[in-house]
This record gives sequence, C-alpha cells and structure tokens, in this order.
Amino acid sequence: MKKFDVAIAGGGVIGASIALELALAGLRVGVFERSEPGREASWASAGILSPAPESTAMIPLVALGQASMALYPEFIRTIEEISGQSAGYRPKGTLQAILTGDAREELSTFVALHHGLGLKAVALSAEDARELEPALSDELEAAVLRPEEASVDNRAMTQAVLEAARRSGVEFFTGSTVQALARDGLRCAGLQLQSETVEAHWTVIAAGCFSANIEGVVRFAPVRPAKGQIVSFRPADLRIERVLWSEKIYLVPRNDGRIVAGATVEYVGFDKTLTGGGLQQVLGAAIELAPALAHARVEETWAGLRPDSPDHLPILGPAELDGLIIATGHFRSGILLTPITARLVREWITEQRVSVDWDRFSPSRFQSLAQKTHG
Ligand SMILES: Cc1cc2nc3c(=O)[nH]c(=O)nc-3n(C[C@H](O)[C@H](O)[C@H](O)COP(=O)(O)OP(=O)(O)OC[C@H]3O[C@@H](n4cnc5c(N)ncnc54)[C@H](O)[C@@H]3O)c2cc1C
Repeated sequence: MKKFDVAIAGGGVIGASIALELALAGLRVGVFERSEPGREASWASAGILSPAPESTAMIPLVALGQASMALYPEFIRTIEEISGQSAGYRPKGTLQAILTGDAREELSTFVALHHGLGLKAVALSAEDARELEPALSDELEAAVLRPEEASVDNRAMTQAVLEAARRSGVEFFTGSTVQALARDGLRCAGLQLQSETVEAHWTVIAAGCFSANIEGVVRFAPVRPAKGQIVSFRPADLRIERVLWSEKIYLVPRNDGRIVAGATVEYVGFDKTLTGGGLQQVLGAAIELAPALAHARVEETWAGLRPDSPDHLPILGPAELDGLIIATGHFRSGILLTPITARLVREWITEQRVSVDWDRFSPSRFQSLAQKTHG
C-alpha cells in the first residue's frame, strides 16, 4: 500500500503548489491526478492577478487576495529557481477603462471603493490613459490605473510549479482517479483509487470543479463548473503593456506578444464546447476595447471550467472530518490565490495554525447552512 504524510487529489496549480510547499517543509507528498497534471482550469485561465473585487459579493476575498499578491514575488522566485522555467510574471499594473455612462461619477466611485479597501487606484483622463496604452479605443471616457496588480502566463507557471514539485521530491501518479475518501473510523485516512487505497496522515482535496464528484466530498465542497470561453490573438504590431479591463472583457498581454481576451461565465455543466455566441461575445467586446484587434490574427480559442462555490468564495481549510483539508472553489481567482492557498495549507499541516484568518472560507459553512435550512 502507498503511504504518504500527505495525499493530494488533483494535480492542477492548487494541488501542485500545496505539494511543493509541503515537500519543501520536508514532508512526503503524493499527488493523484486522473489525467495529465495542469491541463484543466489552470491551463485555461487568463492569469490575471487582481485582488480588486469584481462585485460587492467578492469583497470578503480582498484581504486574502492582497496576502497572496504579497507572496507572489517570492513564490515566482522559488518556482523559477527550482524548475529552471519562466512563469511569465508581469508586475506591470492593470488599467480599468470606462467607455460609457457618467465617467466622472463612475471614476470617483471606483477610486473611493478601492481606497476604502486599501487598494491603490489612480484616476486617469482618457488622454493620459491612451498615452499609457495607445491601443485603447477613442471612445474611452476615463480610466483607473491599479499599479500594484500583475499577471502571469498561467500555463507556464503551472508547468514551473509541477517541475519544481517533482524536483523537490513530490511523487505524481497520473491516470489515478480518486473515487472516494478512505476512512478509518471517524478519521479520513487517505484516498480510495479504483483498485487501491492510499494511506496518508493528511488528505487534501484540490480537484477543482470536479472535487464534488469524489464520494464523501460534496458536503464539504459543493463546487460546480463555471465555463469560460477565451481567445488569444497574436497581433503583428499592436502592443499592450498592462492588463486592460472594461465592464465586458479583459485583455491580458503575454511576454511573447500574445494577447488573451476573455471570458464568458456560463453554467452549463462539464461541457467545454466553444460556441458561436460565446466567441462573438468575447471578440466583440475585445474589439470594442482595443479596435486594432479587428486586424489581429486569432491564434487560439479554448474553454475551461472554473471551480465555483455556492457563495463564489473559495473553500479552504480543515473539514469536519479529522485529517481532511479542502482547497478548492477558487472560481475566478485561483491563479491569484495559489501562493496563499499553498502557504496556509502548509502552515495548518506543519504548525496547526495559520498566519491569515481563513475561517470565512471554512468548508463547514455549507454544512451549517444545510442544518439551518432543515432545523
Ligand atoms: C477561462 C478562465 C479564466 C480564468 N481567469 C483567471 C484569472 O485571470 N485569474 C485567476 O486568478 N484565476 C482565473 N481563473 C480561475 C483559475 O484558473 C482556477 O481557479 C484555478 O486554475 C483552479 O485550479 P485548481 O488546481 O483548483 O483546478 P484545476 O486546474 O481544474 O485542477 C484540478 C485537477 O484535478 C484533477 N481531478 C479532477 N477530479 C479528479 C479525481 N477524481 N481524481 C484525481 N484527479 C482529479 C483534474 O484532472 C485537474 O487536473 C480562470 C479560469 C478559467 C476557466
């Protein structure tokens, strides 16, 4: 029987980063991946690192996002040094474009909201914004620069994390579908695969939007997939320095000149089909924000499945089953939250305390909700 200090279900960026942190702390770690590691949401993502909330529902996530941003430079140094691979980190800020409406009012609301949350935001006139980013539309009314934000090439970063983890002693088992939690009385004692049981002192569920399909997990992690369709351009002579946002779209430049535009948010189960309507929505909004993209070569189109939770917040921490930790539900911020997720899980396992309060994200919150509805 395979035996580990920690057994992890899922070899995406979350599972692999947790494995790396734990291996660097001297633990014996096994990652069980049903397919090829790093080929689901972590591959499909846009790679924006922005702790700014996209809606008021996401405000509880800001502090965790900021804590993760603070870890990013060291995280990138570590994975690049150990793996010898670049993660395409671009700490160049992001620019939020205001294209319509009462620009002056929107601008002051935006800036006040950001300052209230401790996020740096600078109001810019349309002229100043277009001087920074000449690709922006003439229709621009105003903009907000968020200088502390960044992006990574998530595919490159995930590969760097996987390689760093391998080189640090993590054992990966591919083609290993986790069927259920292994139980020893009231404890979680590892993972149940198709034809073998893996024994572990700690078990971590990091199987992204598929986590709830593992028997015994849904009550702790009721996640579901949120599909995103996304497009990448390779323009001949269009340069974008920062991540550009509008209400409808984001454009993310890569170091090699590609520009990634996305993404739809659709609740259609585990279906990753690209659709005419989805691509039309992405292409139309991208060209509205940066009109020269109308002439740029489309290099690739793809879709991925974000792990979403009932309140759209991550599900992080010990479950009410001894030995079990949940690390999923990162929805639209899993790349941003990778370093802090790995750090907190490592702290819990090695020190039984965490440096950033994670109670708000506890897997128990869905159980108490169910009890209340039935009580
Ligand atoms: C279109 C799109 C755009 C996004 N943009 C951003 C962004 O700009 N910024 C940001 O921060 N986040 C973004 N995200 C979200 C981010 O990509 C995810 O939150 C993050 O990648 C989740 O990582 P993960 O490791 O939990 O999941 P995944 O990468 O999905 O990995 C889960 C792994 O578990 C494996 N698995 C599943 N079931 C089992 C099983 N039973 N047994 C064994 N293995 C199993 C899967 O094969 C997979 O490899 C985006 C996502 C999408 C789809």
